[in-house]
Amino acid sequence: METIQKINLLKDKKIAVIGGGPGGLMLARLLQMKHADVQVYERDYSQASRVQGAIVDLHYESGLKAMAAAGLMEAFKAGYIPGADRYRVLDPQANILLDEGEQATEAKFGEESFRPEIDRGVLRDILIASLLPGTVVWDSQFSAMEQEGELWKIHFRNGNTATADIVIGSDGYRSQVRGYLTDITPLYSGAMIIQGEIEDPELACQEMHSLVNQANLMAMGAGATIAAQPRGDGGLTFYAASLYPENWAAANGIDFSRPEEVRTYLKEHFAAWNPVFFTLFEACRGFILRPLNYFPFEQEWESRDNLTLLGDAAHLMPPNGEGVNLALLDALDLSECLTSGGFGDLKQAISVYEKIMLERSAELCRETVEGIADFAAPSDESVREFIKMFTVDRSLS
Ligand SMILES: Cc1cc2nc3c(=O)[nH]c(=O)nc-3n(C[C@H](O)[C@H](O)[C@H](O)COP(=O)(O)OP(=O)(O)OC[C@H]3O[C@@H](n4cnc5c(N)ncnc54)[C@H](O)[C@@H]3O)c2cc1C
Repeated sequence: METIQKINLLKDKKIAVIGGGPGGLMLARLLQMKHADVQVYERDYSQASRVQGAIVDLHYESGLKAMAAAGLMEAFKAGYIPGADRYRVLDPQANILLDEGEQATEAKFGEESFRPEIDRGVLRDILIASLLPGTVVWDSQFSAMEQEGELWKIHFRNGNTATADIVIGSDGYRSQVRGYLTDITPLYSGAMIIQGEIEDPELACQEMHSLVNQANLMAMGAGATIAAQPRGDGGLTFYAASLYPENWAAANGIDFSRPEEVRTYLKEHFAAWNPVFFTLFEACRGFILRPLNYFPFEQEWESRDNLTLLGDAAHLMPPNGEGVNLALLDALDLSECLTSGGFGDLKQAISVYEKIMLERSAELCRETVEGIADFAAPSDESVREFIKMFTVDRSLS
């Protein structure tokens, strides 16, 4: 019988993962499980230096699949927030249109429709704890790299350098690594969000805190959406989304470093809404304007044998609840291509991974961009469709 020789593509190779978000950390974990030599270079000064944002829900066929492959389901089950996957949908007058908290059905682990929510910081801590000590090199903001023979020489903003045989860019939506692989730049989706963080919602905006009720709140209609989500540390994140012309960020005349100017704008913009939403704006001490950009649906580049991308760095798209899940699934697919022993060389393994990753993300990105108005300027019809999607999806289990 013919024996198939498995090739260890990572033997004696040093891998540098640039960016310690969910995608980069998951890749490091999966590669270390196969005894690969990996470092993660992360811009943040330390593990605790930045609040990671609100909750994210992991999906059965992507995020949870990667967590299971990484042997981290028990840690996930200990850290997720039961009940936070429930949605409450309001209209602009704060009438409740859908309240999953009142529905009796309860999905469970192992059921495809169950999308448990976890605080981003808790997810990051779980991934970091799964790595060998010293894997993450903090305060390492990538600035440039060049080839020195077979190796990449990587430069960080703090003056340090590192070398690696293979570089993986998982440095998010403003990836600096991406430019070494492709010059395809992002496009504007037509929508922007104004994001706010509230540290003590229980005190600062009690009524909204009760309305959110430790779940996902979406208030939709009249040309805008307000979404609010709890954070694991008791804080609250909210997003106010609308359609804007591309030059609005430069032309709006609002100084986003002055919260009072943003509050005045938001109260005018949401003047027809129930004033209970204004309590979010009042309680927020700092706002961020985020134009929602995406990489074109059809992306092509020449695969290389020592460089690739994953997550937002590869396929940024407007928020659709899939971004973290895709980053985790990319990490799983890339680790499998690199370590399965099924490919003759690194270039072949990376090009198969890139094909899978780009095809799947193109499809989702197209749906999201084509439906951007349903999110940022929903009509009554699109709100009805949104609610229907939840009721149908959840009843499938
Ligand atoms: C408002 C909003 C809401 C969202 N909600 C959801 C949601 O509910 N569910 C969901 O699945 N997705 C959501 N997403 C999308 C999701 O956040 C991203 O898709 C996901 O975080 C991508 O993971 P990543 O690992 O590719 O990159 P990131 O999470 O962006 O991580 C990149 C990491 O790289 C680091 N870094 C950046 N530049 C450098 C550098 N030069 N050198 C070194 N390190 C660097 C960063 O500090 C960061 O730690 C949302 C996005 C937005 C904007």
